[in-house]
Amino acid sequence: MPPLRILQHPDPKLRMLSAPVADVDASMNTLIDDLFDTLYSTSGIGLSAPQTGHLWRVMVMDLSENRDAPECLINPEILDHSAPGLVEESCLSIPGVVGNVVRSTRIRVRALDRDGRTVERDLEGMYAVCVQHEIDHLDGKLFIDRLSFLRRLQLRIGTARQRRRAKVSA
Ligand code: ZN
Repeated sequence: MPPLRILQHPDPKLRMLSAPVADVDASMNTLIDDLFDTLYSTSGIGLSAPQTGHLWRVMVMDLSENRDAPECLINPEILDHSAPGLVEESCLSIPGVVGNVVRSTRIRVRALDRDGRTVERDLEGMYAVCVQHEIDHLDGKLFIDRLSFLRRLQLRIGTARQRRRAKVSA
């Protein structure tokens, strides 16, 4: 399958709430395969279904160096979180923007796996951060919503400058 198109901010679909998956059937597994193909066509570590316009509570990630450890969480729910830290994030739907976000660096998450079985996992570091970033997507939130007021202001000024430049060159 060719990679799916990744929606770009400010596409309104990125702001919508995704629906829980009732049945992890063959068509859902096809979507998950497509999400992995799409993730591996980028340099990203995680991707959520709504970023491709499919409003289901599904996310995929691979944080391994060789990109050979695919992980999929369906209907992920954070049961417990601790150890907040400031983490630098970026997003495949907002190219060129990097910002520091406060995230828990330890979480316990419950989800369904690709066979529809309930799994619970303790995750740390970038795994924990990636899952929180993707769950935000499932809730229609973006990491830029979590940036400090000052950083958002800097980004807005940057965007206005780009617009002015675009105008000049048009
Ligand atoms: Zn993202």
